[in-house]
Amino acid sequence: MDIPRIFTITESAHRIHNPLTPEKYATLGAALRLEPGTRVLDLGSGSGEMLCTWARDHGITGTGIDMSPLFTEQARRRAQELGVAARVRFIHGDATGYVAEEKAGVAACLGATWIGGGVAGTLGLLTKSLQPGGIILIGEPYWRKVPRAEDVARGCLAHAVSDFLPLPNLIASFGDLNYDVVEMVLADREGWDRYEAAKWFTMRRWLEANRGDDYAKEVRDTLTREPHRYAAYTREYLGWGAFALMAR
Ligand code: SAH
Repeated sequence: MDIPRIFTITESAHRIHNPLTPEKYATLGAALRLEPGTRVLDLGSGSGEMLCTWARDHGITGTGIDMSPLFTEQARRRAQELGVAARVRFIHGDATGYVAEEKAGVAACLGATWIGGGVAGTLGLLTKSLQPGGIILIGEPYWRKVPRAEDVARGCLAHAVSDFLPLPNLIASFGDLNYDVVEMVLADREGWDRYEAAKWFTMRRWLEANRGDDYAKEVRDTLTREPHRYAAYTREYLGWGAFALMAR
């Protein structure tokens, strides 16, 4: 079981697979006022940076589930490196329908809400693993500037303008689902640059090391396209935020 190969190439050197930076994750951990021993569940945990650093900085315990064997292995290595391997565990698997045996104080899904079939479905899924009064954490893109045309949305790698909402509407949509938004940390453009531009260098290095690979043409084409596409579309139009929600 694995995710499409392009991601395991372009994001193989990433610790964080979204536009939040290490500083933003630290801000988010502090903003959530995490108590030592809080159980955190993370669906689509990537390379585990959130759980590992929060275990180190706040003494949380955590479980992460991710479909990428590579990212899951990187998460386990990171836990060793930060000395928190006894407090966090990383499961390789499909998080679709995953419900934790022990209920969590924080149940998170950052940048992978397709796991629950969208934001509303993911809130429903995470709630099944949440203690009463717990916090749900959702990481989701929003339109910083709403595209005037569908080709701009496609330039942002969305299917359509309707894929995302502007920030006020996204926040209102959580209210419509009967959740209070109790905190948020938003990515900035420098964070987007770290997420996107870091892929270019990784691709270039991969190409140099894998000249004969069947997949080299795909990576070559992606590297040729991506810097301009990103500067023209994603950087201009897309925002990204982590939203902390509590059921009303
Ligand atoms: N939350 C992480 C990763 C976000 S990227 C971070 O902030 O760094 C999206 C992640 O979802 C990737 O690591 C990908 O491997 C994972 N993923 C995609 N589909 C999944 C599924 N069905 N179940 C579990 N993980 C999935």
